[in-house]
Formats: sequence, structure tokens, C-alpha cells
Amino acid sequence: MTTATQPLTSEKMLIDGRAVDAQDGRVIDVENPAARTVFAQVPRAGEADVGLAVAAAARAFAAWRTVPARERGRLLLRIADAMEAETETIARLVARETGNAIRTQARPEVKSAADVFRYFGGVAGEVKGETIPLSEHMLCYTRREPIGVVGAIVPWNAPVVLGTLKIAMAVAAGNTLVLKAAEDAPLGLLRVAQLCVEHLPPGVINLLTGYGEECGAALARHPLVRKLSFTGSTEVGRLIMHAAADRIVPVSLELGGKSPAIVFPDANDDRTVDGVISGMRFTRQGQSCTAGSRLFLHRSIFDAFLEKMSVGLTKLKIGDPSDEATDMGAIINRRQFDRVCSYIEDGLHQPEARVVLGGLPPQEGPLAQGYFVQPTVFAGVRNEWRIAREEIFGPVLVAIPWDDERDAIRMANDSHYGLAAYVWTRDIQKALRTAHAIESGWVQINQGLGQFPGQSYGGFKQSGIGREYSLEGMLDSYTQRKCVTVNLQ
Ligand code: NAD
Repeated sequence: MTTATQPLTSEKMLIDGRAVDAQDGRVIDVENPAARTVFAQVPRAGEADVGLAVAAAARAFAAWRTVPARERGRLLLRIADAMEAETETIARLVARETGNAIRTQARPEVKSAADVFRYFGGVAGEVKGETIPLSEHMLCYTRREPIGVVGAIVPWNAPVVLGTLKIAMAVAAGNTLVLKAAEDAPLGLLRVAQLCVEHLPPGVINLLTGYGEECGAALARHPLVRKLSFTGSTEVGRLIMHAAADRIVPVSLELGGKSPAIVFPDANDDRTVDGVISGMRFTRQGQSCTAGSRLFLHRSIFDAFLEKMSVGLTKLKIGDPSDEATDMGAIINRRQFDRVCSYIEDGLHQPEARVVLGGLPPQEGPLAQGYFVQPTVFAGVRNEWRIAREEIFGPVLVAIPWDDERDAIRMANDSHYGLAAYVWTRDIQKALRTAHAIESGWVQINQGLGQFPGQSYGGFKQSGIGREYSLEGMLDSYTQRKCVTVNLQ
């Protein structure tokens, strides 16, 4: 709801180096989920705007692809500096539009996004091929060439770092980009894109704000887009893959997860409790693709561990995301809030389930002013229940006991997702044995951290295709290999 006392900020999209409105003048409201008030508007891009942005990126590609890799890297390093200088401004925008707390989430996100620019700026010169010794009379070598216009789409949960990744990998590899921001959280990423536009030739980076079904779908099917890169839900990822199949273009997908955390009996300590809380991303309201939302606890420590965890979670301060004292902010929007609540209700209706902490959000009081949900932990859960199988994308954790290590691994792997996993034990053999048996693209042992630039990141099974965050991911996903053979006789 728009309030008369709050002036609306009006932003524009970025096409061909210029700030523009949508062709038909339509706009999207941006809401502050902690207050349930609209505070900004952005253009609502449609098919015509997608066409202009893709055409600009295609024109820019002809010259951009010839810019030496090290020069591209140097420009990314400058953008990293500019972004660092604006950390506070961008972090405040992110906290306001996402509901993520400034101290625990929004500011660290912006800093890690600047690190992403720095990393890819540094490795841009590593976009290189190989020579292959076919014979004395033949020179055979490969080149890593850019693909062309990349169409990229990102979600709202970590909008700046996810958008930055797409920009940095596309630019470092010599592609041009049309990036669609998430409709719920376009402002922080828009500011980052403005900084990019200040440092890059027109058309290399274009940022569209719009809805998925119109702007995102039009981008995915545009004939001049030569590669699709999508981060978001598995359901929409499937649609993107269909669009890619129609035109036979390469596609990278970073999708959903329902990641397991397996705790062995020797890890029943405060360090593990803190790590499980951190791995579940409670301070991002559980809205993280890598959230360790299925907690497999050895039966011998089950109750004691949950008790310690409840004490830790009760200390989290929920409230205004812009307040430095806040640990945990608000859920992104009404739809997601209702969805999370429906899963909590589902858990409450299971006769065998026990609510260790949390439950449905309060109907009154300060927390009822925004989309706030308390950390919620269910015990007595069976791995086949909906709350244990489906991605809730909220602060809801299910705890499941196990007796035998093989059972724990079997249950952990009994999921169509395979993004992240967490293993907690001081026994290195058990830890590595378990890590190797788990079907997911990333296993953390005795830690519950976010991604670092340089690591190979991506999902197994329906959690995705391709890798990001690393040189290897950039080479595999954002370049194409050409082989040249030369007769030397
Ligand atoms: P979503 O799939 O609904 O939306 C993601 C983006 O796709 C948005 O920009 C949206 O506008 C766009 N979109 C929606 N419908 C579209 C369509 N038909 N065609 C083209 N684009 C369309 O996801 P969300 O709710 O924004 O984000 C949460 C999901 O993202 C979760 O499943 C989460 O696990 C996943 N995620 C994955 C990663 C990862 O790295 N694997 C990171 C963050 C989030």
C-alpha cells in the first residue's frame, strides 16, 4: 500500500548506456517488506524493451569481443573500486527492498559482490586456449571465444551478488549482457549496473527491470540471445531450459535446494550449533538456495542439540532491517510470506510433528507490521513429508533423527535437489567419507558459510547445470572453444 507521507523514488532501466523508461511507460512498485509500504517505482519492461536491449548488446559485441582480456579485467577492477566506495548506499537500498538485515546480510552481500568483480577482473587474462601436439607438420590450437549476447535472469534473495556474478563472468569472458533484475529487488542491482555503465562502452551491460513472465520470458526466447544464464527456482529453470532447447543455445542454471546438514554424535557442541544456524541462513530468513534446511541429528544427541539450538535462535533479534542491532529481517513479499506460513501450517497439522521453536507469525505487535516470520524448528519429522522435501525458502528447519551413518546419507540423498550439504564431525575419515557419498555440488565440513569467489559452485540433480563463481565456471559457461589447425609444410 502506498502512503501519502512517503515520496516515491522513480528509477530508470539501462539500455545502450542510457537510463530509460519502458517504451509503454508502465511501472512496477517496489515494496519495503519490513513495513509493507511501496517506496519506489521502476520501469516494467516488456517485449519491445527487451528487443532494444538485446539489439544494443548485439551491436556492442562486435567491438567488445576484440578488447584485450586484460583490459576487460582492468575495467572490472575499476568497477570493484567504485562499488566499494558506494557500499553503504547500495547496502541500504538492498536492506530496504529485500528486508535483509543491513549488518548481517545486506552490507556483507555488497562487499562480497565487489570481491566478485575483483576476482573476475584478476582472472580475465586467463581466458586462453591450448596447443595440441597432433604432428610435427601441423599446428593445432584452441581459442576460448566469447559466445555473444548473454541473457541473464536473477532472483531477489541476494540480488546484488547474484547479478554481479552474471555481469563479471560475461564481461571478463568478452560477452555482452542483458540482465533482468528481480521485480521485488531491482534497486541495489540497478545502482551496480549504473556503475558498470560508467566504466564500460555503451551496450556492453544492459539492465532491465520487469516481471518474469513478460520481460524474462521475452529475453529467454529472443533470437539474438546466444546464451542463457538463470538463477532462480527449479520450476522457472525448467521453462528457461525449454526456451534454450527451442533455439539450441547453451544454458546455465543455478536452481533451488533442500540441503542436508548431518551432525555426528561427537559434534554436539556450541560451535556446531552456531554453524548449523549460520548454514540454515536464519539471518536471511532462510531465503537462501544453500540453506541447510534438513537437519539430520544422531539420535543420541537429538534433544540436547535442539535445546541448545533453540537457545541460540531465541537470541536472534528480529525487526527493522536498517537497524544495526537487527539480526534477522523480513520475508520478501506477501506471496512468499503466505507460502512460508502454509508450510508451517502443514507441519503443525502433522500429528507426529513437534514444534521446538517458532510457529505461525504473530497477528499483532510490531512484527505484524511487516512480513516477519520467527525461526521455526520442527522435530519428529519424517523425510517423506512435504516440509522435509519441498524448498520452503523461509526460516523453517526440520530435524530428523538417525542411528546409522548409512541411513543418514540415504535420507540426505533422497531428494531431487543436490545443491549444498553440511557435515559436522571431528572425525576426518567420517567427514570425508560422508562428503564423498553425498549427492550435491558443494559440501562444507564443519562450517556453514556463503560462497567465495574462486570456488567451483553449482548444483547436482535438479539444482542446476553449469558452474559459477570460478575461473573454470566462467570458461565452461561463458566461452566457446574454437579449434584451429594449420598446415606447417
Ligand atoms: P523465481 O524462479 O520465481 O524467479 C527468479 C527470476 O526469474 C526472477 O527475476 C523472475 O522475474 C524470473 N522469472 C519468473 N518467471 C519467469 C519466466 N516464466 N520466464 C523468465 N523469467 C522468469 O525464483 P525466486 O522466487 O525469485 O527466487 C527463489 C528461488 O531461487 C529459490 O528456488 C532459490 O533456491 C533459487 N536460488 C538459487 C540460487 C543458486 O545459486 N542455485 C541462488 C539464489 C536463489
